[in-house]
Amino acid sequence: MRADIICVGNELLTGLVENTNSGFLARRLWSAGISVREVSVVADDKHAIRFALERALDESDLVIITGGLGPTDDDLTKETVADIIKLPLILNEQWLDKLERFFSKRGIKMPANNRKQAMVVEGGILLENQRGTAPGMIVERAGKIIVMLPGPPQELQTMFDNQVLPHLADNNKTSLTAVKTLKCIGIGESMLEEKIKALGKWDLPPISYVARGYEVDLQIKGTGEKEDAAISINKAEKILLSVLGDCIYGSDDDTLAGRVADLLKSRKLKLALAESCSGGLLSDLITDIPGSSDFYRGGLIPYNSELKTDLPGITKEFLNREGEVSAATAQAMAEGVKELFNADVAIGITGVAGPESDSAGNPVGLVYIAVSAPGVSESKKIKLGGGRRAIKERSAQIALDLLRRVLLEI
Ligand code: ATP
Repeated sequence: MRADIICVGNELLTGLVENTNSGFLARRLWSAGISVREVSVVADDKHAIRFALERALDESDLVIITGGLGPTDDDLTKETVADIIKLPLILNEQWLDKLERFFSKRGIKMPANNRKQAMVVEGGILLENQRGTAPGMIVERAGKIIVMLPGPPQELQTMFDNQVLPHLADNNKTSLTAVKTLKCIGIGESMLEEKIKALGKWDLPPISYVARGYEVDLQIKGTGEKEDAAISINKAEKILLSVLGDCIYGSDDDTLAGRVADLLKSRKLKLALAESCSGGLLSDLITDIPGSSDFYRGGLIPYNSELKTDLPGITKEFLNREGEVSAATAQAMAEGVKELFNADVAIGITGVAGPESDSAGNPVGLVYIAVSAPGVSESKKIKLGGGRRAIKERSAQIALDLLRRVLLEI
């Protein structure tokens, strides 16, 4: 099955809002075995929407349109779809009722233009919106499927995952077993390819490589009937695991932080962080995990050297002797915060995010990361490229990976 994605909104064309919906949808469709033919971005303009939609319907079996389902005059998606497929918009009393309750619960009289959101394409399937007032819709016509989704990403994502994907799967439009992504870290794209090529003739499903920062996704795409595809993906996965070992940390929707969280929970260990150059990014990644309070004690950002000496075991003399950016200081930060926060495992990060070398002459991108865990202490010296933000992000990612590898040994 082939799909087109059309994102509607002037704010996307001016660049005021980044088009994240298309990336989300493309990833989800790809994982469901549906290839995306084209992504287009059009203005809140009936002619522009019409032009894009007609072309998409000529070329693809599934067309997903995002945005333009709101109550205002510039929200034109439904009207244009109804016009093209020659079906009327009718009032859905239940949705109107829902809207009225939504506003009265908040003590507000429903604005008259919100009534427009209860107008739906006749015969269409209504999609519940748990996070907003605009319903989504699925309309099928002449063998083509048109899916209309609200623009706000949090509304669109829940609706797509909970209602659109299951609908497509129920109607055999997806081949959910046909693709698998293995998540790799600590090995570059070209090295990965080299290792896989060294296996010799590969008559299993084709593999593609997608680099994402310090990580690389290995996407295995099965072909043929569902079951055959699943079997061959399985075989490929086993071979890749045996060659790449713990460079593979998970698959599909797994995240590195999620994997670390699972390891901490299974080993009943509590984590603490002392982050200097990563500025709290690691803590941010950890606290993105629901239930992180079960294993995360907390973190400090002792950015200033005076604050580093507040950690047990770090004195001014220690910093003068070892240097603020050094393996010994990263290690002492980890040990210190572990003691201070009564944790079992801790990470210390110190480095130079730039744009200039530090006062001790350490170059931009030099970062030391240390992990202190029961019976194990590991540290790593890295030299990162890229700007300030890239250095911070990669430091946090590499620290998570170092912790993951240490936890695997415990
Ligand atoms: P609403 O009822 O919220 O108006 P809508 O379907 O009419 O829903 P739009 O008005 O098109 O949605 O967009 C609302 C907001 O959603 C935009 O201002 C923007 O912040 C966000 N948004 C819309 N499209 C995208 C997109 N493709 N990627 C990321 N964010 C988007």
